[in-house]
Amino acid sequence: MKTVDLRSDTVTQPTPAMREAMLAAPLGDDVFGDDPTVNALQDKIAAMLGFEAALFVPTGTQSNFCAILSHCQRGDEYLVGQMAHCYRWEGGGAAVLGSVQPQPIAHAADGSLPLADIESQIKPDDAHFARTRLLCLENTIGGKLLPLDYVKAATQLARSKGLATHLDGARLFNAATAQAMNLKPNEQLAGIHPARSAINNEAKRIAENFDSVSVCFSKGLGAPVGSALCGSRELIARAHRIRKMAGGGMRQSGMLAAAAIYALDHQVERLSQDHALAKRLGDALAQIDGMAVDPVQSNIVFVDVREPLKAKAAGLIDHLKSHGILATGLYRLRFVTHLDVDAVGVDRAIAVIQNYFKY
Ligand SMILES: *Cc1c(COP(=O)(O)O)cnc(C)c1O
Repeated sequence: MKTVDLRSDTVTQPTPAMREAMLAAPLGDDVFGDDPTVNALQDKIAAMLGFEAALFVPTGTQSNFCAILSHCQRGDEYLVGQMAHCYRWEGGGAAVLGSVQPQPIAHAADGSLPLADIESQIKPDDAHFARTRLLCLENTIGGKLLPLDYVKAATQLARSKGLATHLDGARLFNAATAQAMNLKPNEQLAGIHPARSAINNEAKRIAENFDSVSVCFSKGLGAPVGSALCGSRELIARAHRIRKMAGGGMRQSGMLAAAAIYALDHQVERLSQDHALAKRLGDALAQIDGMAVDPVQSNIVFVDVREPLKAKAAGLIDHLKSHGILATGLYRLRFVTHLDVDAVGVDRAIAVIQNYFKY
């Protein structure tokens, strides 16, 4: 029986065609700027998202780290969501290694940071305070698409106060896919499985609001390793120094960049299938009395278990595991769909969960 791994979209294996692309990639030493495949990837993602330059980095964590340290100096601070990856889930790197202080802000139910809270957390120019320099948003955030009007309003507010803006777009292409699905028929032909051109348009429409954007290739896009930070030439030159300092200057990394190029060329349009399967899972779980399912907007399903199921909730992850289904439950139950999960697997997960709570 095949394991259905719903822990994360990071668990995907490179497809045979992706492995071939990796083997065939022309290589050089990227620390000398000589790797043609890394250079091609950087040019490609920068152009796709409308930036001057991009930097290939090993992880999304390092990408956010390079971004924050490129925007901020020692003693500066960044505004960021309480549950944002670049606050909560990166070991406090910007503070520990960069002396840049986070100012976390509680999320609204839709994942956004309320404009009034952003404004009230920007510190006045006064020796008591760290200098507020940067607003970081994340999209998708907890599987939710930030409304584009909100993205525009929040980044405009930040700019009007002299702040720079960074997007942790680890799942930017999931956000763009969800946004393309939401388009009204007269805006563009979208539908459940939006065309690649519509997804690219929406990715650009999100990215253009920010001074820098980080994108992960190792999540839903299905590459084994790698992220890119996009920004102005000047910002990326600063980020390049920080990447080196963080130990992220890699050598013949074109083998990895080739996987990312392959993912951008072949594995973006399929993201809508992941979203459809996540919706199928969420809809089925919502039918179970006591399971409160967040509205599913992309490839992540969050569930809170309430009465009358609470007593059995703690055993669910282990029970699933014993049936070859993997999920996580650190704060809430979480199921993530991706390249290596199909409808058969999702239906098996549904059936096991239904049966577990039935008896
Ligand atoms: C996964 C993720 C990252 C980066 O993760 P790495 O494991 O360091 O590549 C950053 N932001 C978000 C929102 C993520 O989901």
